[in-house]
Amino acid sequence: MTHPDRLAAELLHHRADDLQRGDPLPPPLVGASVFHLPGSPEADYVYGRYSTPTWQALEAQLALLEQAPCVAFPSGMAAITGVLYSMLSAGDRIVVPSDGYFTTRVFSTEFLAPMNIEVVEHPTADFANAPIDDAALVFVETPSNPGLDVCDLQLVCEKAKAAGARVVADNTTLTPLLQRPLDLGADVVVASDTKAPAGHSDLLLGHVASRDATLLEKIERWRSLSGCIPGPFEAWLAHRGIETLEVRLSRMCETALVIATRLAEHPSVQAVRYPGLPSDPSFEISRRQTHGFGFLIGVTLQDAAAADRMLGACPFVAETTSFGGVHSSGERRARWGDQVAEGFVRLSVGCEPVEPLWSAIDDALRA
Ligand SMILES: *Cc1c(COP(=O)(O)O)cnc(C)c1O
Repeated sequence: MTHPDRLAAELLHHRADDLQRGDPLPPPLVGASVFHLPGSPEADYVYGRYSTPTWQALEAQLALLEQAPCVAFPSGMAAITGVLYSMLSAGDRIVVPSDGYFTTRVFSTEFLAPMNIEVVEHPTADFANAPIDDAALVFVETPSNPGLDVCDLQLVCEKAKAAGARVVADNTTLTPLLQRPLDLGADVVVASDTKAPAGHSDLLLGHVASRDATLLEKIERWRSLSGCIPGPFEAWLAHRGIETLEVRLSRMCETALVIATRLAEHPSVQAVRYPGLPSDPSFEISRRQTHGFGFLIGVTLQDAAAADRMLGACPFVAETTSFGGVHSSGERRARWGDQVAEGFVRLSVGCEPVEPLWSAIDDALRA
């Protein structure tokens, strides 16, 4: 398996082999919907719903990171629903995490269940014991958003394979630099590149990766026929963002460990979840399964008021949903109905230098 550092270096030069003298070093932003196409319609690019040079630059970059071919989508949910619609049919059963990204669950209940697809929910921490017999698809998310529980991906994949089910892993919370579900046996990876990969909170994008060529072709066909396609500008911006993913992630993970360690000792904090704390229930599996513990921290304060007060008082934590951007951000997840304590804050550690960030959080906790 190629070391993530090696991939991060290769990523910055992935276009080199195809460059002609005088070509631009970064990929050009091509917004064309149509391409010069006299006579036979055989060409690399024929119409903007099928393929564009700018998507292909992004997909080549993502494929390097995933070590597998990739198909880009206009958002993480577009990638997820594209996979679910491509892989499931009436009469199938799907197992989804009861504590994972809530939109995946809501989509399954509102759109898959009425199509006679049985949706079974199971908690991430116990996912290796999920009822997968007769399941067509096991959808796993580890660490789960927002609770940061993990499961043993290799074990889940072995059990699913034995039961004849395919495994789709949502790898959004860690990115392929920190966790490689395909190497652990997953059939498909889905991810929201809206988060850390694009990294600047200024676009939405997602992707699907798989080493199963037939399956990926079907997913690409879904994209062409449904018209669920990324915009070239978003793809171009995401390509630029991903060039600095490794350097941002290493800062974010390093800072997150310091902040989580200090939060765990803070008198105003009731509980801390961070997979990198040796006392955390996710630590042992994460240490074996990942190349880093990520940038998300779950912090439980006394109640909703204490959490809102802290968020309101902290100048270096943006009060916003989502995560993975250069700006640290946080939100009280119970406001969306997640099954977490009222005072639970999901903190996404950004790229601010650690000491000013910690002082701001510490001051806000004491406010
Ligand atoms: C944000 C997120 C998604 C959805 O991504 P969008 O780009 O917002 O559509 C899917 N899964 C997880 C784990 C997420 O955090």
